[in-house]
Amino acid sequence: MSVLSAGNLAKSFGPTQALLGAEFEIDRGEVVAVMGPSGSGKSTLLHCLAGIINPDAGTVTYAGADLYALPDERRTFLRRTEFGFVFQFGQLVPELTCLENVALPLRLGGMRRKKAEAAAVEAMSRLDVAELGGNRSGEVSGGQGQRVAVARALVTRPKVIFADEPTGALDSLAGERVMKALVSAAKELDTAVVLVTHEPRVAGFADREVVVRDGKTSGSMVSA
Ligand code: ADP
Ligand code: ADP
Repeated sequence: MSVLSAGNLAKSFGPTQALLGAEFEIDRGEVVAVMGPSGSGKSTLLHCLAGIINPDAGTVTYAGADLYALPDERRTFLRRTEFGFVFQFGQLVPELTCLENVALPLRLGGMRRKKAEAAAVEAMSRLDVAELGGNRSGEVSGGQGQRVAVARALVTRPKVIFADEPTGALDSLAGERVMKALVSAAKELDTAVVLVTHEPRVAGFADREVVVRDGKTSGSMVSA
């Protein structure tokens, strides 16, 4: 049973048809790479799947519910509690320590500092960055920062992580370390990962690849 799926998605921005009949399916704990040329619709697909962009047509189903039929507050709540996000860069608050950055989603959710920091340490250990807890995130390397960002995305124990070019700003060695850590943590926690990348080496860490071309997907279904 897929945790997240989408059928027949269409989305236009003015005259630009970003998605036109895209499909997608991902199982619990599965890592799926979304590949395709620049401008093919990868980010738009990710944003539709993540509850951020309402498609013009088609449906996104998360845990059996039609995501865009839910009230806005409910969808926002699901996004904050059940989804995690990793971007290319710039997602950490540079003035905060790495530990504070990772604990932040839990603190914003109302968790007490001690409990949130204990969970943050655990998430950081999985990503092999526990020793950076006291460093300001603005002071660590790009690769370390991305592993901290993955720890932050995982700290709420999301069901799905959306990673949009998470290694795009890194050299290949640092990128490989981020991918290895992301995939092993996702497998241990049974978290699905939707990984947008244009790099075949990075996609090689995924269980499966979906290719987006002119707003259409191929290889998008589990059984395909
Ligand atoms: P990719 O992630 O594969 O590079 P995108 O999903 O970002 O592709 O974009 C698909 C198409 O939609 C492109 O032609 C892009 O210029 C257009 N597009 C995406 N977002 C917007 C937007 N907010 N406003 C206008 N056009 C957009
Ligand atoms: P709201 O619009 O309800 O205030 P936010 O903008 O604070 O929600 O975003 C809620 C979640 O969605 C955050 O986890 C954030 O990382 C993610 N998010 C926000 N904007 C984007 C975006 N453009 N692309 C991907 N994820 C996003």
